[in-house]
Amino acid sequence: MSGGYRFARFQLVPTVGQLVFRARCEVCEEMGPRVETGDAAMMWVVFHWEDHPDHTVYRELSSTPYVVELRS
Ligand SMILES: [Zn+2]
Repeated sequence: MSGGYRFARFQLVPTVGQLVFRARCEVCEEMGPRVETGDAAMMWVVFHWEDHPDHTVYRELSSTPYVVELRS
C-alpha cells in the first residue's frame, strides 16, 4: 500500500475503510463483483472459466480508500 500522494494543494492519504477486491478476466476484460476479500473475488473465476474454458488468464484487483487532506 502506498503511503499517499502529494499534490500542490492537497495530499491523498490512505484512510480507514474496507478494501475492495475484484477479479478480472484478462482475455475478455469481464469483471466479477466487488467483494471484501481476495478469496471471495477469485471465486468468480470458477464460474467464468466454466463458461469460457479458453479464458485462462486472470487478475486480482484491490483498491484502497483515500481521503483528501488540504496542505497549508
Ligand atoms: Zn473472459
